[in-house]
Amino acid sequence: MEVYQGKSVFGGIAIGRISVHKKDEQQVKRVKIENPDLEIARYRQARQTAMEQLQNLYQKALKEVGEANAAIFEIHQMMLEDDDYNESIENIIHMQQVNAEYAVASTGDNFAQMFASMEDDYMRARSADVKDISERVLSVLGGRTAGMAASEEPVIIVADDLAPSETVQLNKDLVLSFVTVHGSVNSHTAILARTMSIPALIGTDIPLTDAIDGKLGIVDGRNGCIYVDPDEDTLSKMQQLKQEEQEKKELLQTLKGRENITIDGKKIMLYANIGNSKDLAAVLQNDAGGIGLFRSEFLYLERETFPTEEEQFQIYRTVAETMAGKPVIIRTLDIGADKKCDYFEMEPEENPAMGCRAIRICLTRPEIFKTQLRALFRASAFGNISIMYPMIISVEEVHRIKEIVAEVKQELTEQGVAFGEPKQGIMIETPAAVMMSAELAKEVDFFSIGTNDLTQYTLAIDRQNPKLDAFYDPHHPAVLRMMQMVVENAHKAGIWAGICGELGADTSLTRRFLAMGVDELSMSPGSILPVRKIILETDVTKERENNNLC
Ligand code: PEP
Ligand code: MG
Repeated sequence: MEVYQGKSVFGGIAIGRISVHKKDEQQVKRVKIENPDLEIARYRQARQTAMEQLQNLYQKALKEVGEANAAIFEIHQMMLEDDDYNESIENIIHMQQVNAEYAVASTGDNFAQMFASMEDDYMRARSADVKDISERVLSVLGGRTAGMAASEEPVIIVADDLAPSETVQLNKDLVLSFVTVHGSVNSHTAILARTMSIPALIGTDIPLTDAIDGKLGIVDGRNGCIYVDPDEDTLSKMQQLKQEEQEKKELLQTLKGRENITIDGKKIMLYANIGNSKDLAAVLQNDAGGIGLFRSEFLYLERETFPTEEEQFQIYRTVAETMAGKPVIIRTLDIGADKKCDYFEMEPEENPAMGCRAIRICLTRPEIFKTQLRALFRASAFGNISIMYPMIISVEEVHRIKEIVAEVKQELTEQGVAFGEPKQGIMIETPAAVMMSAELAKEVDFFSIGTNDLTQYTLAIDRQNPKLDAFYDPHHPAVLRMMQMVVENAHKAGIWAGICGELGADTSLTRRFLAMGVDELSMSPGSILPVRKIILETDVTKERENNNLC
């Protein structure tokens, strides 16, 4: 038995024969031709066929993996229509009197190199796309079918790398998993794999030799490894694990695609909490209706210096675009307390949880706040972004935030930079915000209750202190009453109220929350389907009667 390690882009276990996929090396020869006009016509015909193939791939991807992920094939169509690309090919044919294959291959190489040398990550990633479209046209010119030969039994595909077009052409019924030597976790191919729920590994140190072709393999997407020729013990252990995973999945899968609607017709927004864009796979996989809390401070925590406006903009934009119009609520940085960043150069504090954290940093160091707001406002032109401010305690803070937001918008306008009009809400996670919720509700578009901090500050219990775990009780009636008050005040002002603290995923309280009138629940992606199950089984009217909330 051999074991090879890679990076997992999607979990799960796959067991089956390995099929080594070798790229169809398209050997292109430079051939002198007599009639460049005829050759250009041959190129145009091939391009037309490639466009039709891409349109079909787009439709297939649209059905299987959704609009956001299918968009890559629209991008490929646009690239194939690009004037510079086409002019370069036709010029080479015309000026050098050479065959279309040679002109396409050299233009493809030149453009790919040009993209690869760009600074912007997004543009650099387009290099693979130019190669992909050029190979497609070459396949058509050579009368070959682009893409992989179909296998007859379900297999684990092992390849050097896979282009997005190759991934989407995989017949899901015949592909158990794919494992590649190269590729990036952020590539469209990885995104497609996650969305298709195929266990997949990239950057795997597996040799692409005929020796492993046809051998039994086990891909363990949880631990990021592939076993080739597994021994009996490993095989039976993995079969058992696979069976258990399958049973759990099947039970919940039936709830995918269902609306979060109670028996008596109340619709609930059921969203996911994320810490960075890598979590999006799980969001899509678990059928979240949006993102209810993007803890943006993780972008700061994983760096040595402040993330720039541009870096933040790219990340927020990617998240918004991947969610394809679904709501994405991004919380401004909640640095402080346990989330410390050296480069913020904060003074040491006696009580950091009650110290300079979150909005307090933003209001005292507006240059940091403004950089993030600029990125958020710009990114909101590319999707359905809302901004949420943490640790609010007063109406005055919201007024000050509004002044800073107005300055940011004014500056963007003067600089001619495009931006959207995101909704703006606040977290209710301090007792002060609860008590002021009637006034605060008139100032903002929504409330999201942060039960982790609300419990800490209401019960005067440090949430980081493990010795106090037995006292830290988010079910405490004081916390639940506060939540009730927040929801009522939100509704009186005509705005919605949700929960994004851990309590939102507590299925023992889901019915109670619905009875309170909570409109949104946001939680780690894996909790979405179990909570959806309870929503579907709840009659809110009866629940309100049971809780004396009529
Ligand atoms: C909360 O306090 O409930 C919350 C969601 O914020 P965090 O856990 O990030 O402090
Ligand atoms: Mg909090």
